[in-house]
Amino acid sequence: MAIKLVCDRCGAELDKREAIELALEGTAAWQASVRDRGDEPRGVFPCENYIRCRGEMIIREDKNGHKGGKTNKR
Ligand SMILES: [Zn+2]
Repeated sequence: MAIKLVCDRCGAELDKREAIELALEGTAAWQASVRDRGDEPRGVFPCENYIRCRGEMIIREDKNGHKGGKTNKR
């Protein structure tokens, strides 16, 4: 089953496999730095628009696959 990351503030989505894997690799370090400044992380990574939306990326299961969007199959 595919997963994607969705921002809990602005709704930005990350569904590229490599980008998700990269984010998940950095999750532990990022969450540690969030706790260091006294906050509790909500998601696994800061949103790409974090400066504007202060959102964090939440893992969602993408059960429907591609729904009316671009398909990136090769
Ligand atoms: Zn966002």
